[in-house]
Amino acid sequence: FSRRQFIKGAAAGAALGVSAGLGFLAPDNMFAVEHSALKTAANESSELQKVTTICEQCVWRCGVIAKVDNGIVKKLEGNPDHPNNVGKLCPRGNAGIETLYSPDRIKFPLIRAGARGSGLWRRASWDEALTYTADQMKKIKDKYGAKAMMFNSTDNLSQPFFEILLKAYGSPNYGTQRSLCFNAMTTGFLYTYGVPQPGTDYKNCKYMIFAGRNLAEGISNNETQEMIEMIARGTKVVVLDPRFSKTASKATEWLPIRPGTDSAFFLAIINIIIKEKLFKKDFITTYTQGFDDLVQEVKDYTPKWAEQKCEIPAATIERIAREFAAAAPAAIAHPNWRTSNFKNSFQTERAIAVLNALIGNWAQPGGLIPDQEINTAKLGVLSHPPFPQAQGIRLDGVPWQYPLVPLSYGVIQTMRDNILSGKPYEAKGWLISRQNPILSIPERQKTINAFMKLDFVAVIDIQASDTAYYADVILPESSYLERYDGLIPIGSKIFIRQPVIEPLYDTKSSLMIYKELADKLGLGDFLPYKDERDLLAKQLKPFSITLDELEKAGHYVVPNFKKDHSKDFEFQTSSGKIEISSSIMAQMGKKAVPAWDEPPRPPKDHYYLLTGKTAQHTQMFTQNNRWLLEVFSENRAWLHTSVAAKLGIKTDDDVVLESDVGKVTIKAKVTEGIRPDCIFMVGGFGHVSKGLKSAYKLGASDSALHKTITDPLSGSSALSETFVTVSKA
Ligand code: SF4
Repeated sequence: FSRRQFIKGAAAGAALGVSAGLGFLAPDNMFAVEHSALKTAANESSELQKVTTICEQCVWRCGVIAKVDNGIVKKLEGNPDHPNNVGKLCPRGNAGIETLYSPDRIKFPLIRAGARGSGLWRRASWDEALTYTADQMKKIKDKYGAKAMMFNSTDNLSQPFFEILLKAYGSPNYGTQRSLCFNAMTTGFLYTYGVPQPGTDYKNCKYMIFAGRNLAEGISNNETQEMIEMIARGTKVVVLDPRFSKTASKATEWLPIRPGTDSAFFLAIINIIIKEKLFKKDFITTYTQGFDDLVQEVKDYTPKWAEQKCEIPAATIERIAREFAAAAPAAIAHPNWRTSNFKNSFQTERAIAVLNALIGNWAQPGGLIPDQEINTAKLGVLSHPPFPQAQGIRLDGVPWQYPLVPLSYGVIQTMRDNILSGKPYEAKGWLISRQNPILSIPERQKTINAFMKLDFVAVIDIQASDTAYYADVILPESSYLERYDGLIPIGSKIFIRQPVIEPLYDTKSSLMIYKELADKLGLGDFLPYKDERDLLAKQLKPFSITLDELEKAGHYVVPNFKKDHSKDFEFQTSSGKIEISSSIMAQMGKKAVPAWDEPPRPPKDHYYLLTGKTAQHTQMFTQNNRWLLEVFSENRAWLHTSVAAKLGIKTDDDVVLESDVGKVTIKAKVTEGIRPDCIFMVGGFGHVSKGLKSAYKLGASDSALHKTITDPLSGSSALSETFVTVSKA
């Protein structure tokens, strides 16, 4: 058997078993079938078929080797050849089998049969569901213009083809969720270095400051491994975090900083480095602009001043400044990741970007690495007609309201608010590909209200997410173990996601959903491929490997590929230099060098609400995964021992958290590992979809508590400017 013959033949047995499942309305049959199938298969064969593919339990895209026995996926292992994980899978990656065999998978297209959000559906054929979706989208375009239709996609390998569909349709409205995650970091670095996200050379780093990158819990597989190796090697690691995170527990030094004051810490470090002339003068002269303005700005940001703001002793700040500079250029103030915390987070990221520039760690061993995309093999592209001009301004406010935010990033909370206000114009429809705005955007009830206001909502997903639950049509996507996606080049290697078994249900890859929807919209020329294999063959055209060969090998190494380092010091900023003083900020009449911006403090008897990740779950995607629930069953409210004693709360008590916009009940975790003025909860729990049988109402949702506050510069949602009261339930 070739691999494809194998999966076709073997899938027949599995498909027979699952045909008894009735889908979303009555999935319990499926649960029984699944277990008997696994049990039978376990006794049948000792010879496992190995298929190489790519994980999608989060966005990191690790290499996977799936072990398949007679059409049943028995084990997932890390692919040692893949740079994103070098042979290891995290807990979520290991639990991918449960995602595939979950009884809550959507098994065929569904069209709403009751009120929106009622959970009443009827089965539809693909032709009916796609025709209905296309008809609604055409109706909206004809009556209100293409701008009345919004598009939203998760960050995934087929996202470029979703974007082609959006552009072909002609809408200016495209939402991602970056404003809830890392817009502050990407805009801060973009306006300093001209790249949104430089890499970090952990392997050679001698001194690392993390102020928001929690790699032990927000797992980015190879980076997490490199961080652990770095610590084992003896690199000094300083973690600023109001909570004793798992990364803090591995660090050399944990500094429980007051929330929202990281920029005070970094400005004071800069102050010492300048005052004591610890900076790299030649590097600054050659590659930067605006140093003199910075000298003026930071002269009053002394460690003593910063101590009042961030509650880190001045002597500690001074010592860290000297240690950091002494380790240069093999020292990094990490750019971080989820940086949507305070309205001043953009200033924090600018201060971090500038601090790195002062010690000249750019493109040096142990320092910041220039944008890796410069050095990535280029795939073949599809030729299609020119896109129509998108009409109208964007509902997310970019760039007319948020001039600094790159067009592709978006400010999704503004999009939601503008649906509700009907200003600057009415939105009518939303096509969402595996995103879950109902559980992610602050003020969940407002988001539900926005969905109720729309004429039409279609969702592409593998499970009935909270957002799918409020859709009119659900177009079920095959899981990542059953489908192809677009190819991914990483440096000189090209990797493939391919089905390790045939789809268990009547589902399709997003590549084919986008394509068939485009056909029905009369836009088929924009996605000119017959099927996924045809598309992948076109992407592979520049290389001397066939798709069959790539499928078998799992990856392809481009011969004679050379990294192009000539562009390492070409900064894509207005001045062509690292902009310590930002030209664009100056043009906007804003302070052009990093500066202090006082964050709000909680009122009396209120606490900062902090949210973050756990290593066992991915945002709001995996809480219905029963294997992961065994190792992390629900989120809890962390509160400090002294606060718990004052309020008479013990671990496992139910507590009520209440903000200006909502109230939740959640179990308490009493700990010394958090500042007394903070409450922490892992995000992504508290699902409202009854289609997620394990996750429904489990734990509590931070989106029910978060207020909608947006940084006017980066478009970041200032999630930690929400303050809550705590009481025993
Ligand atoms: Fe999968 Fe974990 Fe890698 Fe994410 S980090 S792609 S979940 S193995």
